[in-house]
Parts: sequence; structure tokens; C-alpha cells
Amino acid sequence: DTVHSPVVILGTGLAGYGLAKEFRKHDTDTPLILITSDDGRSYSKPMLSTGYTKDTSTDDLAQLDAGSMGRMLKASVWTMTRVSAIDTENQLIKVGDAETAVHYGKLVLALGADVIRPPIEGDGLDKVYSVNDLLDYDDFRTAMKKNDVKKVCLIGGGLIGCEYTNDLINGGFQTETVDPLGYCLPTLLPEPAGKAVQAALEEQGAKFHFGPLVTEVNKADIGVEVKLNNGETIVADLVVSAVGVRPRVELAQASGIETNRGVVTNRLLETSAPNVYAMGDCAEVAGHVLVYVAPLMAQARALGKTLAGEPTEVSYPAMPVTIKVPACPVTVAPPPAGVEGEWSFEIDGHNVKAEFRDASGALLGFALTGEATRHKMALQKELPAIMA
Ligand code: FAD
Repeated sequence: DTVHSPVVILGTGLAGYGLAKEFRKHDTDTPLILITSDDGRSYSKPMLSTGYTKDTSTDDLAQLDAGSMGRMLKASVWTMTRVSAIDTENQLIKVGDAETAVHYGKLVLALGADVIRPPIEGDGLDKVYSVNDLLDYDDFRTAMKKNDVKKVCLIGGGLIGCEYTNDLINGGFQTETVDPLGYCLPTLLPEPAGKAVQAALEEQGAKFHFGPLVTEVNKADIGVEVKLNNGETIVADLVVSAVGVRPRVELAQASGIETNRGVVTNRLLETSAPNVYAMGDCAEVAGHVLVYVAPLMAQARALGKTLAGEPTEVSYPAMPVTIKVPACPVTVAPPPAGVEGEWSFEIDGHNVKAEFRDASGALLGFALTGEATRHKMALQKELPAIMA
């Protein structure tokens, strides 16, 4: 019967655990099960790219283990358990070898996003790391020590590539960063702001290769040789790939739930299947795929109420993103895709104040670097909500 059917949440990242906390504020009785393919430790994912700057080990980053989280949330947390299929008609999920089936009253997909793996050839791919969760972080830190790494080649000059470049510089490592586009954070920032970040990082010793693609990573006498399609070769001890993430949609897709760039939901976070919801990095909410913490917190607050019997639509205020590049701090609220308008710039060294306004003068986006980040509050107030 539906009264005692459990709420089941797939995923124990900031989305899954965040939702569980919000749900328990409104409902302390309904059985709650969280299922995760990892070890279920809670941690703040944004800290994965500040490890050398703040000298944090994997254990420092892990906050509570699955057992403690379960007690705190009055929930059972199943770790190292991969969900392989969802039977949306009978409201069953199949776990692991699919011999075990669990019935749900309500199901929430909080499955996160996978790293995109660029097509790279060569015999040195075992030296290419991506850091997208706590277990990856541990592997990466171990490899850095074991290989006595002095120099790292980074693939990607976007958010994670630039954060890692700065973090590794702060850790005393040499870096060479490759991106096919023209400057730092090319998909988030207008050119003068991206160039300011680049110049600030270069002053601290970072080296950039803008324009080429990485085609091969091969074993060398020590470390690896990274081949670019402009004929250049970078010699490094280890490679970090950071070219972006893609919502995990495979499980939903295979279960007949509508997907697009992410798992498609409305503003109630309902998917196309009855009693199945999606949130966090895996979700596409009313057309928006936003792989950041602020949106998933807004989703958790709304869905926590909805699951407790008070249907609540999610709304998004303006949510500027802060990028952790201490050499040149960045705050950006990109204008919505496709809107008409123009950038204007105030540039003073590494300090760039960029505003994107439409013909009537209304502010639609901004990008701030260096000391210009002090204008964040004022500009944020002037921005329209992403989803009122
Ligand atoms: P995840 O944390 O990825 O959780 C997904 C969960 O699903 C995991 O528990 C996983 O085990 C589980 N899972 C997946 N598949 C299955 C399956 N088949 N069966 C069972 N379980 C499964 N955002 C910001 O706003 N500010 C920042 O400064 C910032 N910095 C970042 C730095 C880095 C290095 C990275 C990688 C991201 C950063 N982000 C930042 C993004 C932010 O961390 C993410 O948006 C957020 O953590 C996503 O949380 P999530 O719970 O949706 O996904």
C-alpha cells in the first residue's frame, strides 16, 4: 500500500543527501532508502578541485560515512549497489544482478553526471585521470605520489581544467593546459575576462596551448608524451582530463523514461513516469541543465515538500557561479542562450567587469574577474530570475 511504500533515492551526492535532509524536515515517518554505487560517504564535491591549495586528503574531504548518514536521516543507505533497471509500471527497481527487486512508492533519480572522455589514442591512457568523485580523488592523489609527479598536462581549460590548473600550481607542480578554444573558461566568459584569467595564471607559471586538440597520450621513459594535432608534444608525468560532464541518462533511457540532454522533468521535478522524479546533475528541469550546487539545493527544498505531500514547483533566482581560481577569482552569470544583447567591458589589468545588456539596457548576464568580483551583489540584484 502506498502509505508505507518507501521513498527511494538513487544517488548519495549533494543532490540525493540534500533531498533526504529536506524531506525529513517535513516527514519523519515514511521509510526512506538511499541507494548508491559508491561508498556513500558524504562530501562536498566542489572541494575536489582545491585539494592542493588547502592540503586536504580524501579522509579530510569525507564528512560522514553511509552508516552515520543513515542514522541521521532515519534512512537505510545501500552502498556499492548499482541499480540496473526500473520497472516503472510495477514501481520496482532492480539492483545489481537484477535478482533483487525493491518496490518504491516514490523514486528519485539523483544519479549525477559522467565525465566526458575525449577520443584519445596511444598506450599511455592509464596515466590519464578524471576527478569526478571521492574515489577518483583518492586514485588521483595516490598516483601523484606514486609517480613522483612534477608536471601535469591538463586537457580542458574550462571550469574544472582552470580550477585544477590553479590548484596544481598552488601545490608546487608545473602545468600545461590544452584547450581547442581560444582562452580560459571559453564557454562561460567573454574573451577579455577569459584572457584576464589566462594572464593571471600565466604570471604564476601556468602554460596554455589554445587552439589544438589532444590526439594521443603515449608512454615515455618517464611519464608520458601528449601529442597535439598542431604537431606539438607535451612531456608530463601525468594527465588530467577535464573536458566537461554529461548528465547520466542511461538508466532512465533504458527504463523508457523521457530523456533529452538530461532526464526530462517539469517544475515539480516529475519525469514522464508516474511517481518518478529527477534532480541534480542528471536532470533537465523545464529545459535547464545546470550542473551546479545552487540549483540542486533549490530542487531539494521544493521536492522535499512535494514528496511529503505538498506539491511545490522549483524556482530559480539568478545564480552566479563562482570559479575557484585564486590567482584571479571569477564570478559569472552567463546570459541565457540565444538572447539578443551586447557585452560592454571595464578593464583594469586582471580586473574585468563585463555586463551583457539588451537594447533597452536591461542586464541579462555578467562576468567579473579579479577585484571586479566585488560588484557581484549589486549586479546579481539587477539580474532577472532564471525561472521565476
Ligand atoms: P553526484 O555527486 O555525482 O552523485 C551521483 C550519485 O549517483 C553518486 O552517489 C553515484 O554513486 C550514484 N549513482 C550513479 N549511477 C548509479 C546507479 N546506476 N546506481 C546507483 N547509484 C548510482 N558546483 C558549484 O556550484 N560550485 C563549484 O565550485 C563547483 N566545483 C566543482 C568542482 C569539481 C572538481 C567538480 C567535479 C564539480 C564541481 N561543481 C561545482 C559541480 C557540483 O559539485 C555538482 O553539480 C554536484 O556535486 C552534483 O551533485 P549530484 O548529487 O547531482 O551528483
